Amino acid sequence: MFGVCVLCPLLALAAVTSGSVEEENPEFWRSQAQNTLHSALARKINTNVAKNTILFLGDGMGVTTITAARILKGQLQNRSGEETVMNMDTFPYVGLAKVYSVDFQIPDSAATATAYLCGVKANLNTLGVSAAVRNGVCRSQKGNEVTSILKWAKDAGKSVGIVTTTRVQHATPAASYAHSASRTWYSDADLPSSAVTEGCVDIASQMLKNTDIDVIIGGGRKYMTPKGFPDPEYPEDLSAQGQRNDNRSLIDEWLSMKEGKVARYVWNKRDFDAVDPEKTDYLMALFEPGDLRFDVERDPSMDPSISETTEKAVQILKKNPNGFFLLVEGGRIDQGHHDSRASMALHEAVALDEAVARGLELTNEEETLTVVTADHSHAFTFNGYPFRGNSILGKSPIFASDFLPYTTLMYGNGPGHKIVNNKRPDLRGVDTADKDYVQQSAVPLDTETHGGEDVALLARGPMAHLFQGVYEQNYIAHAMAYAACVGANQQHCAVTAVPEGIPKTSTDPGSSAPDTPLCAMTTVILSVLMSVLLH
Ligand SMILES: [Zn+2]
Repeated sequence: MFGVCVLCPLLALAAVTSGSVEEENPEFWRSQAQNTLHSALARKINTNVAKNTILFLGDGMGVTTITAARILKGQLQNRSGEETVMNMDTFPYVGLAKVYSVDFQIPDSAATATAYLCGVKANLNTLGVSAAVRNGVCRSQKGNEVTSILKWAKDAGKSVGIVTTTRVQHATPAASYAHSASRTWYSDADLPSSAVTEGCVDIASQMLKNTDIDVIIGGGRKYMTPKGFPDPEYPEDLSAQGQRNDNRSLIDEWLSMKEGKVARYVWNKRDFDAVDPEKTDYLMALFEPGDLRFDVERDPSMDPSISETTEKAVQILKKNPNGFFLLVEGGRIDQGHHDSRASMALHEAVALDEAVARGLELTNEEETLTVVTADHSHAFTFNGYPFRGNSILGKSPIFASDFLPYTTLMYGNGPGHKIVNNKRPDLRGVDTADKDYVQQSAVPLDTETHGGEDVALLARGPMAHLFQGVYEQNYIAHAMAYAACVGANQQHCAVTAVPEGIPKTSTDPGSSAPDTPLCAMTTVILSVLMSVLLH
């Protein structure tokens, strides 16, 4: 009964505060739905070859994160929030990817990146290798390497790039160019001696050796320079110093490998802004010793935003007449969640959505496949009965059965678990929208974990319809490769002569099927003959 007494005045208040007046008119919803229907009916399947592919990967950006980030984005623009349309929301095709790894029900970013980039599911903490490779066991690695769509695209004559907000040696970008039994072998100093003896090589040095990557943008300077080498931005900070035991400077080596081409290395915003994409063949930009700062804590005079880095990458890569493949990772959504700082995670997701807009502005839907997805979700919930327009980082208006308020966003596990005198912390008077606020969790853990439910994939452009439905995450690499005519499956890409003598790229999945009764009959006769001959 207590609950009802509390609810009644609140529900009356809700009637006053919810929605806008126009939403009370049923015509508002009818015309809105009719608009959606018209655009669904007008949708045409695009069977062009994807000259360009941009894969936007929100690390840890589960569906709950997308919804909450959408509301935050609207509320940052002083709207109620729920009705906001993010850039990624405008994509016409949506599917769900199953994210488990070969050995774990709930995966990590290395195994999942191997799935959606290399097309093969792997074991936890391993990248660019098949599931025959055991986590951290170098001797299981040899011969079990698998290549990624970044390499397939390069081999097909396209330009390729990686943009991330983490260190460029981190799991997601690393799976595009490296093969490692452990995702933590960033520099040679991170390899156990047994792995060195057995011939394994660190991720940073593989970045120079495996695929010729045109654009590399993110953080991770310290894995590229000799031990003790002072960081240019934080010369006094010992933890920012170079880490390498082999005394190599991979930055200098990379520059010298590009002799005869215009290659630029930059580590700050001023030099980055001075890079003219029209006159630059190769760009390596490393803005921090390790991961970049969270976007809301970024110094815009020192480090560019993910929209700015995406823009520069596309401008450099799109000069190639054969097109490009670009991986853009919003890598710190995941790290915000691990800290249970929902504000950080959501602002990172909003920043990624802005980068999506920049990608769409700079490319053409007719020739560019754009995909937005996540590697895995988090133990992150969106709960209670908050009023329409309630701050997404706020609290439920109705108290829990322990007579205390709770936040709309919270975690199943994580550092926010606290019980004092048998009670949760009292949030009355606490600013739960503060960027450093740590949301409560049911179970105590130093770092919150990933979640295992399917992740959404949104697609737009050539062959985007291939991404509908529910599928294994490793299918994504195969579908992107099919769309771009790179990798192993390219029969549909052969240029065939049509009767008029006009060369036509056969990309219509139905075009190889017999389209007349005569053709069908010929096919039957041929297949009977073949079966006779083969037996
Ligand atoms: Zn994570």
